[in-house]
Order: sequence, then C-alpha cells, then structure tokens
Amino acid sequence: MSNNTPDGVAAPRHAMLRVYPEHCQGHARCSEFLPELLVQDGYGPVRLTGDGAIPSPLLERARLAVACCPEMAIELLPA
Ligand code: SF4
Repeated sequence: MSNNTPDGVAAPRHAMLRVYPEHCQGHARCSEFLPELLVQDGYGPVRLTGDGAIPSPLLERARLAVACCPEMAIELLPA
C-alpha cells in the first residue's frame, strides 16, 4: 500500500534512516525534527540513537528531517 503525502512524495510505511556523516555539516536542522532518533554531540555530525529503524509514529517527522537537510546527509530507506 502506498503512503503518498500531500506533496506527492511517497513515503514507505516502514523505513530506516541512514546518515552520511561525511556530508553532514552539523547544523542540527534534522535533529530538531527528530530528537528521538538523531542526536548531535557538540558541533560534530549528527548520529543515530539506534539502528536507524523508524517507529511508525515518527515516520512523518523523519520525512521532514530528511527534507530539511540541505546537504542530503540523511536518507529515508525502505526497511
Ligand atoms: S540537517 Fe543534514 S547536515 Fe544538518 S545536521 Fe542534519 S544531517 Fe547533518
């Protein structure tokens, strides 16, 4: 079943977050949307709090976190 959003971007129902620390500039836009799964120590790159699995209630905020990253340093992947 698709899970199309109002902007027409399909979001998988079950998804994983992936972080590319080599691209991350550490300005923490993403972690403001999703502090449960993304944290930042000091000014370094953001990191995952777990294995990247996104609980269903956090999926929409995860999608926003990915969309707000100007460096494309985080990605939403199907689980
Ligand atoms: S918004 Fe992107 S570049 Fe900024 S901290 Fe998050 S992952 Fe890193």
